[in-house]
Amino acid sequence: MVSKRIVLKFPHSLVDKPIAYHLVKDYDLVFNILQARITPNEEGLMVVGLSGKKENYAEGIKFLKEQGIIIQPLDQDVTRNEKRCTHCGACIAVCPTEALSLDRKTMKISFDPSKCIACELCVRACPPRAMRVKF
Ligand code: SF4
Ligand code: SF4
Repeated sequence: MVSKRIVLKFPHSLVDKPIAYHLVKDYDLVFNILQARITPNEEGLMVVGLSGKKENYAEGIKFLKEQGIIIQPLDQDVTRNEKRCTHCGACIAVCPTEALSLDRKTMKISFDPSKCIACELCVRACPPRAMRVKF
């Protein structure tokens, strides 16, 4: 079983194509849209959770790439600048998934990218602009 959060970038021509339908029906994958938007240059962008059997997952990813979709792991796109972070805690109040949380042992704010859904709320809440979401 494989379960990953990934970012899909696809050309405008594919925006209305039933990509999720094929992943579910043809590859027996669970497809969970965490975020979707059209960027100003009209590329489609989706943050999704994708899970299923290992071989089905690999075939589903191959299918996406064959459609011209660019795929990258979510944790490459959401980062924290450790030098800038002052551990003020402003971000944990807005983070909906507890990807940002207080480590009670160190009393510092820890960041777990595997829980992040790239909602960008922390980017706006962070006074020194330590959080970055780059798509
Ligand atoms: S709001 Fe910014 S500076 Fe404050 S703890 Fe969160 S990431 Fe660090
Ligand atoms: S983008 Fe920031 S606020 Fe949103 S889930 Fe990720 S860490 Fe939490």
